[in-house]
Parts: sequence; structure tokens; C-alpha cells
Amino acid sequence: MTDSVHKPEALVTLDGYAPSDPGAGTSMAMFPLFGLDVAALTEIFTNLGEKAYRGRQLADALYKQRATDLDQITTLPQALRDRLAAEGWEVGRPHIAEAFRSVDGTERYLVQTGLQTVETVWMPEGDGGAEYSDDSDEESTKESASEGSRSPSAGFRRATICVSSQIGCAVNCQFCLTAKLGLQRNLTPGEIAGQVVSVLDRHKVELNRNRVNLVFMGMGEPFLNYDNFMAAVNLLIDEVGIAAPRMTVSTSGIVPGILRFAKEKVRPKLAISLNAPNDDVRESIMPVNRKWNIAAVLDAVRTIPFRNREKVTFEYVMLGGVTDQPEHAEEVIRLVRRANLPAMVNLIAWNPGPGIAFNSPTSESVAAFQQQLLAAGIQTYVRRPRGRDIYAACGQLKRTTEGAALAS
Ligand code: SAH
Ligand code: SF4
Repeated sequence: MTDSVHKPEALVTLDGYAPSDPGAGTSMAMFPLFGLDVAALTEIFTNLGEKAYRGRQLADALYKQRATDLDQITTLPQALRDRLAAEGWEVGRPHIAEAFRSVDGTERYLVQTGLQTVETVWMPEGDGGAEYSDDSDEESTKESASEGSRSPSAGFRRATICVSSQIGCAVNCQFCLTAKLGLQRNLTPGEIAGQVVSVLDRHKVELNRNRVNLVFMGMGEPFLNYDNFMAAVNLLIDEVGIAAPRMTVSTSGIVPGILRFAKEKVRPKLAISLNAPNDDVRESIMPVNRKWNIAAVLDAVRTIPFRNREKVTFEYVMLGGVTDQPEHAEEVIRLVRRANLPAMVNLIAWNPGPGIAFNSPTSESVAAFQQQLLAAGIQTYVRRPRGRDIYAACGQLKRTTEGAALAS
């Protein structure tokens, strides 16, 4: 539903946490339960003198049954729900405020986080890029065989949800529309995980039957919001029930974040926005390269204990005339070989945006680049641009309201 009311900007407290809008006629700010882990939920109940197992019940209601209102949580007695509300708690899951659908089936959402919105993208058939998911099981083939078109799972086979980690971004890559916003604020764990659960809810996804991959490649730099990002990942793994190998996080090369990530016991797969064949070009399009150059990023990636068959993805944005020439492909081949990592390359044709002075590569130059890398024995994919007409493609997320809005 289009949210046409122009509200004031969010109240941002020290950790970027915004209590919800109290709404007309009330003065009390409510605090969201969504985003808390089972330990924190349990503590709420034990502090109220209630039984600890209520925490588990509440976690299941929030993350498995996808309750959006305390009234729906019938595993808790009415009196207990009333008590939670009286204490200022609400479900508080971010909701889809506006939806845009592309001709290719991609949907872009403005998800309400506090008083601001953030962007999330649903790609019902993935993006054709690198094999981001763990394909070792056959879940998708079980899909809705017995229920035909009545199944809520009909209409997608390997959906991918692209998730934002910050509102805006501070990294300032010259080719990226999100960069134009600057960093507005970090998202909380509930706001990051809430994008996923809201989209799963919208499409009635059953995770035991439908294969869903997550890519943390929306707005923002996840490794500059590391703690909240990893807290969200842990909720999505432990409570929502999405396996870590079905998730990929992309970073522009924030070395301290990569080093921390390497130490996580359970973690998504990693993609690095390489985007250039050498440091000179990279520095000119990604100022972050002055702080951490390609060698420093690769050194950090080498500290990761890769899982069996796991590979790091090098994303490579192809800018016409700047990074898409045959000599650039030669440099990329040498660079990937020298990196000595289990790796694959994901080529992304640059998606245009207003006020950004680059050129898209021709489809011939993308195909030729891919062939050059493949001939050198490097696993290379081309990411299909999804939802360009609704500004949902890579690097186009900037809360623009162009495109065909749908009722949410
Ligand atoms: N901030 C993180 C993740 C979000 S960007 C990062 O930069 O890795 C996800 C991917 O989109 C990155 O690889 C980025 O280089 C790419 N990208 C950004 N702007 C783009 C554009 N206009 N066209 C194509 N890809 C773009
Ligand atoms: Fe930020 Fe990624 Fe865009 Fe660079 S490409 S400005 S890191 S969102």
C-alpha cells in the first residue's frame, strides 16, 4: 500500500535504533520484539517472573509463524500478551510499505524501518550470476508437485532475496547510485532480518519446500555494520531456518570486517567487489582502495577457512571503456591466478543511474570478456540485470519511486 503520508525523519538513538512511531493519539513509543534472539526474548519473560520456555514460543511465533501482531501469538495466554503490550513491547517487524514489479518478475520493495524506508529485492528465478546457493540437495524438485497451481510456492523455483544492511552507504563507489545517498544510518538486526521475513511472508514461502537464497548486496556495506549484520545472519540461520551456505555477503573490501568474518564458525559465503583489473583503476572508481588495496583484501580473504567446495566470488562491474577491454580481462586472469584462492568471477554489466557518468558495456564486450576468462580456466558467470525498469538492479537502489507501484 502506498504510504503517502510524509512523516518526519526517524528518531535515531545512539546505536541507530529507532523506536516505532507511536501513532496518532498515543504518546508511548513501542519497542520491537522482532530482532531479538531467543536468549533476549527469554529474559523478557524471566524478568516478568514468567516461565523461560515462553521465550522459545515467542521466537517461533516471530520467526517461524511470521506473526506481525501480538494478538496472533496464541501460544501465549492473552493475559501475557497484554502484559507484554503494557510493558511497551510490540512485534515491530518492518513491513513492506510499497512494492514495484518489473516485467521480468523481479519485485522491489520499500520496507518501512522506523520512519524511513530501505530497499529489498525479490528475484523469483535468481539472477543467473554465480552459483550463490548450495546446490547439493534436491529440495527444489519437490516443489508443489502435488498441489499444482494452488500451491503458494508456485511461480518460483530458486528465488533470491537481495537484502540491505544500511540506509545509504559511506563507501562512495563512483558507479553506484546508493553512494549518492551517503550513509544515513545502520540497520538493526531486526531491520535486516525483517526484510527477509516480510518478503517470505508476502510470497508465502515454505522454507522446507522452496529453495531461497539470500544475497546481502542491497543498500549499504555490510562489513561497516558488522555486528548488526552478523546478528541478523544468526537469526536467519537459527530461527528463520535458512542455511548459511544459501547466503552470500558482498563487501567492497573492508579488511577488518573480512578478518572478523574469517573467524566466524557459521557464516555466509563471501563475495568481493573487485570491480577493476588493477589498483590504479580500482582507486579511481572505489576510493576505499586507498585504504585497503587489492593485495590487502586478498591477504584478508586468504585467512578464511573455506568449506568443502566453497569459493569466493569476485564481482566485477563492467564499465564501458574503463574495465571491459580485452587487456583488462588479461589482467583479471593474472590477478585471479596469483590470488591462489578457490574463486569464481561474476561479471555485472554496469546499470546506469541518473547523475552517474559511466557507460554500460556492450553485450559483445561482456560476452568476449567472459570467454577470455573461461578460456583461461576461470569459472565465470554473467549476472543478468534484474528489474532495471524498476531500479531494482545492482547499484540502482536509492529509494526512487519510479516504476509501477503495486499494492503491497
Ligand atoms: N556494498 C557491498 C554490497 C552491495 S553492492 C559491495 O559493494 O560489495 C552489490 C554489488 O553491486 C557490488 O559488487 C557493486 O560493485 C555492484 N554495483 C554497484 N553499483 C552498480 C551498478 N550501477 N551497476 C552494476 N553493479 C553495481
Ligand atoms: Fe556502497 Fe557497495 Fe555502492 Fe560501493 S557499491 S557505494 S560499497 S553499496
